[in-house]
Amino acid sequence: MSANAPITPHLLTVPRKDDEVAKTNLVGLMRPALRDVLIEAGAPEKQAKMRASQIWQWIYAKGVRNFDDMTNLAKPFRELLKEHFEIRVPEVVTKQVSEDGTRKYLVRIAGGHEVEIVYIPETDRGTLCVSSQVGCTLTCTFCHTGTQKLVRNLTAAEIIGQVMVARDDLGEWPVLGQSNPPTTRLLSNIVLMGMGEPLYNFDNVRDAMKIAMDPEGISLSRRRITLSTSGVVPAIWRTAEEIGCQLAVSFHATTDEVRDVLVPINKRWNIEALLEALREYPKVSNSERITFEYVMLKGVNDTDEDAHRLVSLIKGIPAKINLIPFNPWPGSDYERSSNNRIRAFADIVHNAGYSSPVRRPRGEDIMAACGQLKSETERARKSRKQIEQEAGLK
Ligand code: SAH
Ligand code: SF4
Repeated sequence: MSANAPITPHLLTVPRKDDEVAKTNLVGLMRPALRDVLIEAGAPEKQAKMRASQIWQWIYAKGVRNFDDMTNLAKPFRELLKEHFEIRVPEVVTKQVSEDGTRKYLVRIAGGHEVEIVYIPETDRGTLCVSSQVGCTLTCTFCHTGTQKLVRNLTAAEIIGQVMVARDDLGEWPVLGQSNPPTTRLLSNIVLMGMGEPLYNFDNVRDAMKIAMDPEGISLSRRRITLSTSGVVPAIWRTAEEIGCQLAVSFHATTDEVRDVLVPINKRWNIEALLEALREYPKVSNSERITFEYVMLKGVNDTDEDAHRLVSLIKGIPAKINLIPFNPWPGSDYERSSNNRIRAFADIVHNAGYSSPVRRPRGEDIMAACGQLKSETERARKSRKQIEQEAGLK
């Protein structure tokens, strides 16, 4: 089979029968909530904290999905758990592997909605690009996701569940009953750069990232988690205080005039307001540099003057500038800047003392690159509509 052939859609979970009572999903519950549901189900209050901790480790450190595998819990307690609860993660519908090793998963969540997750292997790390919403309410003009109407926010379970699904596919859970020597992690970093604006789904994103960071579970350092925002200024303050992860910001323009068009949220919080929050972020969150994402659009935001303006705007902020060559998608109005233009822009930024890596597009052959994500169902819906229009049916 060729490396990039999509794997045939398959169902990983058995559809629930109508007469079955819905069970509470334990995935995505923070420790206190987990303890509370155990007590509600009849677990003795005195033991609930310890039981919650044991279950937590089975789910997040060992990747166990069956209560029967939780061998340090007494059998009657496991029966109680089976009766009331489930351990449910999103269902993988398709998986595609790019020629460059990038993997893209289309997963289905409650309500039949679908989101995409992208895994990007590199020599020194493996990064999972996680989605926070189905679609996005914002309408950045260069972004494919922005053309998809928001269907809903993802729950904390659906966000952390994306990490669990990827670890399943990468075979990155300890093998039960064996001592597993520490190895370099395949999934070592998370970026909240998939579909959606994470700061418009703050509580669920925060809870899911807290779970990812918990030392008794997936245990990723907050320095290995990067949240990308288009600039929801009030929530940037909350991110510093309540999550403390690395921050990336979709900057993309050096004047309000241009940014108002490219990133329309700029009309609500302009460049000056955004920069003020970014200046404080590293101090409040005790984190390192802010990543400024800057998509390179031919003739729109890519002149030498833009580069100089960018440098003077961010003066005093510990920063790295990530230049992203525009990734086209069907129907997009922009063009990617030439390699020479990108190089010249990068040089100006670099000479001003900032690291200015150019993000190499990954997984382009499977539409997994930045800004190309959009769920298949939505695409299918759109094209059906188009077909009908073309056929004169509507
Ligand atoms: N909503 C958040 C996170 C998701 S987008 C945000 O906007 O920051 C992740 C990154 O991909 C953002 O920097 C976004 O501006 C960029 N992006 C979107 N569409 C793109 C495209 N077509 N080509 C290149 N980068 C794109
Ligand atoms: Fe939404 Fe980010 Fe795309 Fe803007 S760039 S439309 S905020 S996903």
